[in-house]
Amino acid sequence: DSKDFDDEVSSICPFCGVGCQVSLKVKDGAIVKADGINGPANEGRLCVKGRFGFDYIHHPHRLTKPLIRRDDAPEKGLNVDPGNPWTHFREATWEEALDAAAHGLGDLRSFYGGKSVAGFGSAKCTNEEAYLFQKLIRQAFGHNNVDHCTRLCHASSVAAMMENIGSGAVTATFNEIENADVAIVIGANPTENHPVAATFFKQFAKRGGELIVLDPRGQALKRHAAHMLQFRPGTDVALLNGIMNVIVEEKLYDRQYIEGFTEGFFEFREHIRAFTPERMAELCGIEAAQIRAVARSFARARAGMIFWGMGVSQHIHGTDNARCLISLALLCGHVGRPGTGLHPLRGQNNVQGASDAGLIPQVLPDYQNVTDPEVRELFRHIWKGTQIDATPGLTVVEIMDRVYRGEIRGMYILGENPAMSDPDVEHARKALAHLDHLVVQDIFLTETANYADVILPASAFPEKTGTVTNTNRQVQMGRKAVDAPGEAREDWRIIVDMANRLGLDWDYDTPRMVFNEMKMSMRSLHHITWSRLENEGAVTYPSLSNDDPGQPIVFGDGFPRRAGRAMFTPARVTPPAEVPDERYPMILTTGRQLEHWHTGSMTRRASVLDAVEPEANCSLHPKTLRKLGVEPGGHVRLTTRRGTITVMARADRAVAEDMVFLPFAYVEAAANILTNAALDPYGKIPEFKFAAVRVENP
Ligand code: SF4
Repeated sequence: DSKDFDDEVSSICPFCGVGCQVSLKVKDGAIVKADGINGPANEGRLCVKGRFGFDYIHHPHRLTKPLIRRDDAPEKGLNVDPGNPWTHFREATWEEALDAAAHGLGDLRSFYGGKSVAGFGSAKCTNEEAYLFQKLIRQAFGHNNVDHCTRLCHASSVAAMMENIGSGAVTATFNEIENADVAIVIGANPTENHPVAATFFKQFAKRGGELIVLDPRGQALKRHAAHMLQFRPGTDVALLNGIMNVIVEEKLYDRQYIEGFTEGFFEFREHIRAFTPERMAELCGIEAAQIRAVARSFARARAGMIFWGMGVSQHIHGTDNARCLISLALLCGHVGRPGTGLHPLRGQNNVQGASDAGLIPQVLPDYQNVTDPEVRELFRHIWKGTQIDATPGLTVVEIMDRVYRGEIRGMYILGENPAMSDPDVEHARKALAHLDHLVVQDIFLTETANYADVILPASAFPEKTGTVTNTNRQVQMGRKAVDAPGEAREDWRIIVDMANRLGLDWDYDTPRMVFNEMKMSMRSLHHITWSRLENEGAVTYPSLSNDDPGQPIVFGDGFPRRAGRAMFTPARVTPPAEVPDERYPMILTTGRQLEHWHTGSMTRRASVLDAVEPEANCSLHPKTLRKLGVEPGGHVRLTTRRGTITVMARADRAVAEDMVFLPFAYVEAAANILTNAALDPYGKIPEFKFAAVRVENP
C-alpha cells in the first residue's frame, strides 16, 4: 500500500552490471522496500540482491564523519574495528580532513613530482563522479596513473574488442537473445552473477532456443542447456580453436560476411588448421564429438550470440580467449543483426560507464587514446589548457607494485577495496602500509581504509543523483532517494573540493554540469541529454536522434576500424602461469556467489543477504571431501605459494574432483591471499581463475 511509504523514488540497483531499475520505498528517511520497475534491462524483475540488499546503507558501520589517523595510532594494518576505530582514527571537520587529504597528496607532488601519487577510482560511482576523478588525477598530477576495477574483471575483453572490432562495448544487448536461435554462454555463471539476465536466457531455452554452456564448473543454467561442455580449467583457447577448426574444415563459415566485413581471414584459416577437435578435446578433457556438435550448431544458426564472463577474462590468456570469441562470431557472421552479437557481461553496476568516462590509464573519455595528439588537444581545449601526458598510465596491479617499491608514495582511493580485491593480496596490503599518504573515500571503513591517513565519508548509491551505464550500453538515471547519514557527502562534491584544494579551479555545482561537459568530448553521448534521462529513465548509446531510444545492435554496416573491417587475430594455446604439481596438486578458482557482492563490504552488511550466506565457504566435489576425510560443512585448509586460509567446505558435484571454487567476499578467509598476481600481457588482468593449491584436512 503506497500509504505505507512517505516517498517512492525510481533508481538503479547498485550491484551488478545488469542495471535493473528499482522503485525505492522510503519511510522516515530510510529505504524500507525495493520493487522492480519496467526498465529496459529488467522489465520489472529483480534478484535477491536488488530486492533485499538495500539496508546496508543504514548499517551502524556507515562512516558519518571525516576521520584522520591519530598521531599515536598503532601501525597501519588490518586491525581496525569498523564499529570502534578510535584507537586508530579521530573525528575531524570536513575542512580539516579535506585540507589534510589534499595537502598530503600535494606535498608529495611538490617533493617527488606528480608521478608519486596515483588514483584508484570506482565502478560503483556515477558516470559524472568517474569522469571527475580521472580528470582530477590527470589535471592535478599531470599523468595517467588512474585506473579502476575493470582492470580486475573485463580489461582483457576490452583489449581484444578494441583491437579487433574497434569498440569495447557490447555489440548487442542481452535482451537480443530473444531473437537468437543459438546462444553460447562461456566462463560465466549468470544465475548467480547476473541473475536477471539469466531469466532471459532461461526463457530463450524454454522457447526452443539452443543454449550452449561452456564452463569448467557446472552451474544452474546447465539444466536449460542443449550442450554443457565442462572443459578443463585454463584450456579456453584450445576449446575455441577446436570449435573454429571444425567450422573452417567443414566450410561452415559465412564467406560473404567474411569478405564484406573482415580482414585477416586467410592467415587465420591457416593458423586454425592445426587445432583439430581430437587434439583439443584431449587437452580440454572432453569428447571431440562435443566440440563438433557445438561448432555445427553455432555456425548453422540463423542468428547466434556469445556471452562471456570472468571465467574468460581473468586468465593470463584472457585477451586471447576474447580474441577467439570475436573470431568465432566473425567466422559465422553473427554480429550486427537481430539475435546476434558479442556480449561480455559486465560485473559492477557502473563498470561500463566508469570505463566510458575515462577511468582507464591508457585512454581518455570514450576510449580516446592518450597517445593521439589530436585527442590531447581536444582535452586541452575542454579542460582549459591542461596538458595531457602522452604516456599511457599504469594499471592498478602495476601501481601496487610501484607502491611496494616506494616509487609511488601517495594514493587517492575512491570506493574500491584493493586490500581485499587485489591478487596476492598480502603484497597489496604491504604496499598500502608503505604509503606516505593514503586518502580513502568510502561509505564503510573497508579493509583498505584500515591503511588510510584520511578517510572521507561518502554516499551510497541511493543517496545521490547521477547517471550510470549498464552492460547493455543503457545510460540510466540513478536518483537520490534518501540523505546520506551524518556528515557524509556525495562523492562528486568531495572530488570537487579535493580538486580545488589541489590548485584546480573547478566550479561544478551539479552533476548535470559535469554531464554536459562530458558530452563535449564523448560521441557516445550524442543525442543523450540530462533532460531525456530524467524523463525517459534510460537511453541506449548510440542514439541516432533526440527521440531515438538508442540502438540495441551495432556494427550492422561495418566496424569502427580501418575500412570498416573487423580483424581475425589468431591465438595460441598457452598454459596458466602456475600449473599444479606435487606440492600444490589441485586447481583453485575464485568468483562470486548469488548473495554476496565482490569484497562483501555492502552485502555482508545487508541483513537478509548476510543471514542467507553468513560464513566463508568453498566448494569441493563430494569425492574429494571423502578422500580428505572432511564432512560437508567441516573445514579445509587451502594453501598456495602465497598463503593459507581455512574455510568451511561444501559438497558440490558441479566442481571437478581436482578443483576448488572459492568466493572472494569474506575478509576472514580472503580468497586473494591465495590468488596469483601473474598478468595477461595485453589487458594486464590478473589470473584470478587459476592457481595451484593444496587442500588439506586441518
Ligand atoms: Fe541488481 Fe543485478 Fe540483481 Fe538486477 S540482476 S537486481 S542489477 S544484482
